[in-house]
Amino acid sequence: MTAAAKHVDDREPIVIVGTGIAGYTVARELRKLDGEAPLVLVTQDDGSFYSKPMLSNALAMKKHPSALATFDAAQMRAQLNADIRVHRRVERLSPNEREIVVNGEPLRYRKLVLATGADPRRLRIEGSGAGDILSINDLGGYATFRQALERCQAVAILGAGLIGCEFANDLSAAGYAVSLIDPASTPLARLLPEALGTVFANALDASGVRLHLARSAASVDRLQAGYRLTFADGGHLDADLVVSAVGLVPRTALAAQAGLAIGQGVCTDAWCRTSAADIYALGDCAEIEGKVQPYVLPIMHAARALARTLHGEPTRVAFPVMPVTVKTPATPAVVVSPERAGEWRIEDMTGAPPHAARAICRHAEDERTIGFALLGAAIEGKAALIQAMTPARGQ
Ligand SMILES: Cc1cc2nc3c(=O)[nH]c(=O)nc-3n(C[C@H](O)[C@H](O)[C@H](O)COP(=O)(O)OP(=O)(O)OC[C@H]3O[C@@H](n4cnc5c(N)ncnc54)[C@H](O)[C@@H]3O)c2cc1C
Repeated sequence: MTAAAKHVDDREPIVIVGTGIAGYTVARELRKLDGEAPLVLVTQDDGSFYSKPMLSNALAMKKHPSALATFDAAQMRAQLNADIRVHRRVERLSPNEREIVVNGEPLRYRKLVLATGADPRRLRIEGSGAGDILSINDLGGYATFRQALERCQAVAILGAGLIGCEFANDLSAAGYAVSLIDPASTPLARLLPEALGTVFANALDASGVRLHLARSAASVDRLQAGYRLTFADGGHLDADLVVSAVGLVPRTALAAQAGLAIGQGVCTDAWCRTSAADIYALGDCAEIEGKVQPYVLPIMHAARALARTLHGEPTRVAFPVMPVTVKTPATPAVVVSPERAGEWRIEDMTGAPPHAARAICRHAEDERTIGFALLGAAIEGKAALIQAMTPARGQ
């Protein structure tokens, strides 16, 4: 930790930067413990509360973008008894002054929480249409995407990770012609062992998604109508819209400029404490004990513990076994990635019912279950596997 910051004043508010799931969940959890402590949330968006995971299955759920926000900023102010400042950008952070600068104005804090999320990763793509490629990482981006879809039939998606696969399945179920492109030889390559990736690819293919695996996009050029995407191998395909879903980069600029320790995200210990006194981080911007976990479940666990810490009861974040669920009706997937080296074994790949499969990752020495991947009907086995893994964690 750096030298303790000066001028601690208990009358100053707890300030949270960001009103995504991370920022709002900390605020909610804190309010369960203390209804009155001065609380300010600052966000560069409009402060609506929405479930970001719904962005990639809203078409199937027949949800209009305007229906995705369940509460606006005014409702959140009332619920949280908090001062929520919307369309305000935090430009600078001064740990020694216990101050942030918001649209040019200083705002002092007693404790500060960074919940600033992540930016979509941008691929290096050439061509006149490269600047038109859409990324969808918030409600505003989703509204733009839905507007663009009104003039579209064919959509090309770059990236066959969780978000790319979910959008591909959602769009094809809604009647769009979808091409899904990834340099890896199977989709969900970071989550699924290869054999299950192949089963998953077959399921997407059967649902109408055209997969272009082991191929990468080199350029996107505007046509008179739509775009021509050219692969590095020289082939090409035409689409009305190109979407990029190639991963996220934690937003660390504020913290980095203030001299906080940065790894892949804003580094924290198991109490969500950054390297600066009284500054905490969680959510997609944070690297808690060496790991960036850009999913809802880890955020919930971190938020609960952090709220207690902010309330004066230092509480370590204890992450249980947290499966990642891929919302692809073509064949849903549930995965717990192993945290250490192990051996994947395919335990069931009957093909009946179709696209169901189960793989277990076992510890190299003692055969303990240290991870699993389930597809289709096999996801029913999730609870038993989580239970089997639970005592093994931390050993
Ligand atoms: C399409 C999609 C589908 C997903 N599906 C799943 C799923 O099925 N399951 C799952 O577990 N996870 C899923 N995720 C991941 C999950 O939604 C995220 O991990 C989570 O929403 C991140 O929340 P956050 O609050 O950390 O960040 P964000 O929601 O990005 O919020 C960041 C906040 O910080 C504010 N901000 C940033 N910088 C500043 C600044 N300088 N000044 C002021 N405000 C600032 C922004 O305005 C925003 O309010 C999905 C993600 C996407 C994009």
